[in-house]
Amino acid sequence: MSKYVCTECGSDDIEVRMWVGANDNHIDEWVDDENYRECWCKQCHDITHWELKES
Ligand SMILES: [Zn+2]
Repeated sequence: MSKYVCTECGSDDIEVRMWVGANDNHIDEWVDDENYRECWCKQCHDITHWELKES
């Protein structure tokens, strides 16, 4: 198993941005983009970056 965690505090309680259809609210499956690693960390209460942690 691997999961996405905050690079600042290591928490997995993070949210990521997703693309949503502007007209139909369609949500595609989230794709982890190595070039766009911003996330919202609920522990840091701040915008941080995610990393994929193998466990
Ligand atoms: Zn954090």
